Amino acid sequence: MINYDVLKKYPLCDRCFGRLYAKLLHTTNLERGRALKLAKAIEAEINNDKETLKILARSGVKEIKNIDIETESCPWCRGIFDKVESLINKTIEKLKDYEFKTFLVGTHIPEEIKSLEEEIKTDYMEGIKQEFGRIFGKILAKKINKMPDKENPDIVIHINPYTEEISLQINPLFIKGRYIKKVRGIPQTRWLCGFCKGRGCVYCNYTGKKYPISVEEIIGEPILKATKGKDYRFHGAGREDIDVRMLGDGRPFVIEIKEPKVREIDLKKIEEEINKDGRVEVLDLKFCRRKDKVLIKNTPHRKTYRALVYCEDQISDEDLKKLEEELKDREIYQRTPKRVLHRRADLVRVRKVYKVEANKIDRNNFELIIYCDGGLYIKELISGDEGRTKPSVSSILNKPCYCKELDVIKVHDGETNGRDE
Ligand SMILES: [Zn+2]
Ligand SMILES: [Zn+2]
Repeated sequence: MINYDVLKKYPLCDRCFGRLYAKLLHTTNLERGRALKLAKAIEAEINNDKETLKILARSGVKEIKNIDIETESCPWCRGIFDKVESLINKTIEKLKDYEFKTFLVGTHIPEEIKSLEEEIKTDYMEGIKQEFGRIFGKILAKKINKMPDKENPDIVIHINPYTEEISLQINPLFIKGRYIKKVRGIPQTRWLCGFCKGRGCVYCNYTGKKYPISVEEIIGEPILKATKGKDYRFHGAGREDIDVRMLGDGRPFVIEIKEPKVREIDLKKIEEEINKDGRVEVLDLKFCRRKDKVLIKNTPHRKTYRALVYCEDQISDEDLKKLEEELKDREIYQRTPKRVLHRRADLVRVRKVYKVEANKIDRNNFELIIYCDGGLYIKELISGDEGRTKPSVSSILNKPCYCKELDVIKVHDGETNGRDE
């Protein structure tokens, strides 16, 4: 049944009254509300029901004879639908600095409107937030000739039509690729000065940084400049130590540009510009989605390393053969290395080495090619970390060994960690 009693308490306008029954009949809220009110008014005239006629007149029915009552303003919409045009113009003005393809409108309504809606709702109602957002989005899309997108909008327009507040949420731009780090001594991400935490001090020569440059900056700065963004974040598929090179066909990464003004950038040109640096090189730059960032950060990949090992004692060909045999498909029990204990929980990780190839260089030096699970600490696999990594190259040979140089030569991003494959 239609609840006309609600009009006794609240003089709802035609559109708002129609919205209470929005799911019935294929018509607009405005037309539905008006039709319901007119039908009721005719019935009230037949019954000479003055009280109902007054209530209907107060809520905007102007056709009733011999009643002189002013229409009261509607407490639900408070006239927000008359402001659509001006709010759209205000929004377009705000959007003019940004390049984007898709958008989403987020409508926000005051608490008191929400409680009113809660009080008068019917099973057939549409929320006023939904109706406003729908109408606003439709007209805006047409005016700016862009598509609404619920899943991955470039920009979210937050609007409160009651207070006329409009703010833009500029979603990040994501670009993926692979990087090669050809030199040692560069950290993967920006590293703040330990003394001043980035503010700048005598120790860091007022740069705020512990290291002058990082892979993140070499890749991020040219992209930031091209996109006119606010800042960027680098997400690598794992990371190598500062003194470790990243060679082969590189390590996958995603770079996230915050609040870009430009989205249509020429990635081939950017690639060339980044590669001028010489220390870091990128390849396969492609636009991607937020989910690629999550995937890249959370999937452990197997790696192949090349390590240059120094042994305190003389090494023999038998030693190297023994290493290859003992480390084939071997589970390594690795307690968190001493050198990373300050930032990682102290626990034992089990990682697998699948294959090792050992090549003698001279009496005390040899090279190891190690194919293993991601997350295995190679320097400790060699030294043994005072018994915290078992077994280790040192423990198998019963001779103290150290990693002198380390390179990642392949990130196997098609293959995840596993015990038995
Ligand atoms: Zn209304
Ligand atoms: Zn400092």
